[in-house]
Amino acid sequence: MSTESKKKKNAKRKANSPLVGAHMSIAGGVSKSFARGEAASCRTMQIFTKNANQWKANPLVEEEVEAFRKERKRSGITPVVAHDSYLINIASPEGKKRGMSKRALLEEVERVEALGIEYLVMHPGAHMGAGEEEGIRTIIASLNEIHRKTEGYRMKILLETTAGQGTNLGYRFEQIEAMIDGVDDPDRLGVCMDTCHIFAAGYDLRTEEGYEKTIKELFARFGRKKILCVHVNDSLKPFESRVDRHAHIGEGEIGREGFRYLMQDPRFAKVPKILETPKGGKMEMDLINLGLLRRFATGKTG
Ligand SMILES: [Zn+2]
Ligand SMILES: [Zn+2]
Repeated sequence: MSTESKKKKNAKRKANSPLVGAHMSIAGGVSKSFARGEAASCRTMQIFTKNANQWKANPLVEEEVEAFRKERKRSGITPVVAHDSYLINIASPEGKKRGMSKRALLEEVERVEALGIEYLVMHPGAHMGAGEEEGIRTIIASLNEIHRKTEGYRMKILLETTAGQGTNLGYRFEQIEAMIDGVDDPDRLGVCMDTCHIFAAGYDLRTEEGYEKTIKELFARFGRKKILCVHVNDSLKPFESRVDRHAHIGEGEIGREGFRYLMQDPRFAKVPKILETPKGGKMEMDLINLGLLRRFATGKTG
């Protein structure tokens, strides 16, 4: 076979393979994530655009933005999803903390737009004792502010479903629905469904019946078009535990069947499905978990 037709065949196989990937490190610069994604067999991936445990970020330089775009094109990894810093809480009742969070989020939205990344996944926020309704109102006001400051941006913020640990909001679909319905421009928001989180929050995925009921409710609340990313994680903690601990695919409380339903569900075929599970020293666990997801998609057992 000629190299040209081999290349074509490879491209075709890649395009037909399930849209799965993992969270990748940006050590050395955001553009360095693509080579890692390739090594881990990602077709799509998630990154932080800065150190997720720090408020401060070095500004993105033009060369790095260019290198990012080039590497993305070369690797063919798409879409790329960003995840916001763990420090951000736009629901905080404390003015100072909320102000810092909004500034940090705005900076991340700007970085994501500059890099041409489609989505920024964020945890909606924790009300810290102010109450759920008040927390949701605060999140809506904060999002409106960010949207006003970034008018015309193409990127979308995806609100992630949470396990409901502590005072974290977003552990019921109706809470995220209220946030989306509450903002002035709901078209700029989408949803990221995290399998571990929803399971820990009390949405079952273990049986065909449970899976169908959960996904039916998800689509009924948001419509299919709003579900723009799935975090594929098994759960170390039991059903309804409200504790967020990720486990390798099939080794947690959800188990293999739940992920088989997801991978064979045509409604999620075009939605990026991204692992946030422990990677192992050389990303070998990403390779194993992604291999497993691809096998589930073909319907083969194992
Ligand atoms: Zn997640
Ligand atoms: Zn989590």
